[in-house]
Amino acid sequence: MNERQGPHVLVKDMSGERFGKLTVLHWAGSTPNRQALWSCACDCGRTAIVRGVQLRTGRTTSCGCVKREQWRLSMTHGQAGPTRRTSLYNRWLLMRRRCGNPTAADFPRYGGRGIRVCAEWDASFESFAAYMGDPPGPGYSIDRIDNDGNYEPGNVRWATAREQRMNQRRMKGAGL
Ligand SMILES: [Zn+2]
Repeated sequence: MNERQGPHVLVKDMSGERFGKLTVLHWAGSTPNRQALWSCACDCGRTAIVRGVQLRTGRTTSCGCVKREQWRLSMTHGQAGPTRRTSLYNRWLLMRRRCGNPTAADFPRYGGRGIRVCAEWDASFESFAAYMGDPPGPGYSIDRIDNDGNYEPGNVRWATAREQRMNQRRMKGAGL
């Protein structure tokens, strides 16, 4: 991803626009299905990469600090949290664990052979969630397109077990 490069001519420049607690800083590339990503500054002081459509539709109005707070409150009150998020969050935890924790059983096949989670995603579940979005359906998991490449923008996608097996036969390895 080259951040110095400007947005595609068809992408409306949203720099400087404000959505809830977020102020758009600059274009930050595109998702595999060509949705523009924007780097935003949150009122809480964090930055986040958010899909433009999420901003324009009002679905994302903070770096995640508002949701984290709601999550914390819902946990405090003993209610079940949103399962959809929990599943994506667990995948984020597992991804970081197998790449970053030498005691993880599957570390040798990931971190042990140099597979990393990019700094942005390692630091922020919300950035990772903004890029990946939710799985398109049941049975999908995170697949690295280049099996020797990192968990980073441009190298991950949602794929079914069958698609992953086909990719692994080509590249050798495993998805998440
Ligand atoms: Zn925030």
